[in-house]
Amino acid sequence: VAAKPDCVFCKIVQGEIPSHRVFENDAVLAFMDIGPLAEGHLLVIPKAHYQTIDQMSAEHAAELGRVLPQLTGVVQQVSGATGCNLLQNNGVVAGQAVLHVHFHIIPRAAQDGLGYRWHPKSYPDGRAAELATLMSTALGRSA
Ligand code: 5GP
Ligand code: ZN
Repeated sequence: VAAKPDCVFCKIVQGEIPSHRVFENDAVLAFMDIGPLAEGHLLVIPKAHYQTIDQMSAEHAAELGRVLPQLTGVVQQVSGATGCNLLQNNGVVAGQAVLHVHFHIIPRAAQDGLGYRWHPKSYPDGRAAELATLMSTALGRSA
C-alpha cells in the first residue's frame, strides 16, 4: 500500500513531519499524540496507508494488534495509569479526523473527566437475532 500524498500520518511514517516515536517495526509505528487527552496518550498506526480498519488486510491488522498489549502496558507503567481506553475512530461520522487508521491508547485515572456518553438502548423482539443472522451470513458462515 503506497503512502498517500497529503496524509499527515504517512508523512510522520516517512519522517517528513517530526514526531516523538516510541516503537516501530516494518509494519507499525507508535508515537505520541500531539494533542493528548492525558499524559502518555499514544497513537499506533500501520505504516501502510489505510483510511479505515475495514479496508485493512487481515495480515496488516494482525501486525497492529500484536503490539497493542505491550504498548498498553508501557503506557500504563510510564503514565502511572491503572487503565486505558483503546479507541479507534473509524470514519468521519465516528469522529475520525486523520484519515489513516490509528488506535489511540489513552491513559485513564479516577475522576479524570474523560469518558463518553454511553446510553444503552434495547432491541425490539427478534431484532438482535435478525441482525446477528444478517452479519454472520454476510461473513459467509453461520454462527
Ligand atoms: P482522530 O480524531 O482522527 O481519531 O484522532 C486524530 C489524532 O491525531 C488526534 O488525537 C490528534 O491530536 C492527532 N494528531 C493530528 N495531527 C497530528 C500530528 O501532526 N502529530 C501527532 N503526533 N498527532 C497528531
Ligand atoms: Zn496515510
